Amino acid sequence: MSFYSGSCACGQVNYSISAKPYFTQACHCKDCKKSTGSSYVIHSMIHEDDFSIDGEVESTDLPTGSGAGQRAYFCTKCGVYIYCKYKIAEPEKRIALRTKTLNDHNRFPPQAHIFVKDKDPWINLDGIKNCFDAMYDRDTVWPKDSLKALRERAN
Ligand SMILES: [Zn+2]
Ligand SMILES: [Zn+2]
Repeated sequence: MSFYSGSCACGQVNYSISAKPYFTQACHCKDCKKSTGSSYVIHSMIHEDDFSIDGEVESTDLPTGSGAGQRAYFCTKCGVYIYCKYKIAEPEKRIALRTKTLNDHNRFPPQAHIFVKDKDPWINLDGIKNCFDAMYDRDTVWPKDSLKALRERAN
């Protein structure tokens, strides 16, 4: 079994995931710029049951590039945003973990870049595959084993 751990910046919140993420992606949309205070977010998609968290978090609803919205979870002490639940992913019990809160921060590089239409002009993605103006069709972009794992657990 794979096992990866992470934390917020102050260390009050620690978590672990017990499986490799389904998919990791960078989002350049304007909402992600606001919520990170940076150029893009990197999210790893995981199943809720593979995620265990220690420490106190608070949550709030935030907008998303897709328009559907998300509930974001923050450390109550340092305010670092650890993960979110996209409204559209709820039936699959899929959550989006902020990849760079993992202790091994280079473990899961982005496999796609989305909302590239809002990308900062000084970021150069030439030659990077899986760049999309907005969202992509998951069935054609995600690896087959990830789609299979997602579907097996959706029922
Ligand atoms: Zn913290
Ligand atoms: Zn975004």
